[in-house]
Amino acid sequence: MHGIERVLDEVERASDEIVQYTRDLVRIPTVNPPGDEYDACSQFIGRDLEARGFDVEYIAAEGRPEHTSRHPRINVVGTRRGGGGRVVHLNGHFDVVPPGGGWTVDPFAGIVRDGRIYGRGVCDMKAGIAAALFAAEAISRAGVPLPGTIEISGTVDEESGGYAGVAHLAQIGRIAAGRTHCVIIPEPLNVDRICIGHRGVYWCEVAAHGRIAHGSMPFLGASAIDGMGRLLQLVREELMPQLTARRTAVPVVPAAARHATINVNGIEGGQPVDGIQTPCVADTCRAIFDRRFLLEEGFEAAKAEFDSFVRRAAADCPGVSFDLRELMVVHPTRTPDDSPVIAALQASIRRVLGRAAQLIASPGTYDHKHVARIAGLPHCVAYGPGELELAHQPDEYCRIDDLVNATKVLALATLDLMGVTS
Ligand SMILES: [Zn+2]
Repeated sequence: MHGIERVLDEVERASDEIVQYTRDLVRIPTVNPPGDEYDACSQFIGRDLEARGFDVEYIAAEGRPEHTSRHPRINVVGTRRGGGGRVVHLNGHFDVVPPGGGWTVDPFAGIVRDGRIYGRGVCDMKAGIAAALFAAEAISRAGVPLPGTIEISGTVDEESGGYAGVAHLAQIGRIAAGRTHCVIIPEPLNVDRICIGHRGVYWCEVAAHGRIAHGSMPFLGASAIDGMGRLLQLVREELMPQLTARRTAVPVVPAAARHATINVNGIEGGQPVDGIQTPCVADTCRAIFDRRFLLEEGFEAAKAEFDSFVRRAAADCPGVSFDLRELMVVHPTRTPDDSPVIAALQASIRRVLGRAAQLIASPGTYDHKHVARIAGLPHCVAYGPGELELAHQPDEYCRIDDLVNATKVLALATLDLMGVTS
């Protein structure tokens, strides 16, 4: 039997172990926020990596404000060195969003039923971590000599921006151009799809300031709520249709997200609605805007455009002034079309699933941005088991056959990237 076939065989044989490992991970409730059980989870992954012959480092996010004694931010990185060839890094975040309501099973029991594993974070993305780990394990069990180095990391806080996780590893040079050849992030994007990037994010807070007056004589004041209302009206009637008319060439899914978008994530103004009532014209109103911009638009243009709408609202509302505060900017990323990491996954998906891979991009954002922007590494994609639509939902699950197939694909792609193709 050729090396590649032996590897596929070893993954198949390890199916039950892969499922068990995923269930064990799901049972560690690494809920973020606030960042529970990170230490326990990094230790669990680290001990396992060590037992499988990896050198293991625990990397705390020293210097980050969210790294506290109550909720330490601890990442784990395992390294298995082969020959002097490429370094292939498989990265998975182990934090999960809170379970929320609507579950019909215990979200942290790791229940297996009808060929699926259920639990919060099972597809996003503890199954992905299991797939990465058993991809490496199958290569070693198959006795295929490794001409390069495999790194597997479990990181924190992806769900809250990844600053103490992948961004930290990139900042300290642990993931870096020149050191790392490529990064594959096994996020749940469906077993035959390769995610090559995401749109940009521009979050800002707009505060409207008016003039307080007695609510019985509103003409004596200037309502900040009316000012914000004018801005919302301009956004809805003029900006939104313009954004919808713009379309990116990047293959974002779902297709409706192939356009630029804007959402109002929250708004508050005037007196507290549930407090003691006093009649006043609102002197403040704040709203959070969530603008997703396209690679073709660029951040500067998106920002300048939004600024112009705020200025127009101010001009239309005498007595009301506006402040704008930037909360978060994420630039769009796109893996180069000729990246070897895309080619390796395409070939492996064809071999394992017998069909062509689809290239997609994410409507949101994930840790890819830190690899591209901070580590300066262009060769990064997301590929992993599980369905995107199930992430963050009640009764989240991952199909076991997807998990096993994704493990095979990751094993073959890792070898392909190191030059082993038969
Ligand atoms: Zn995720």
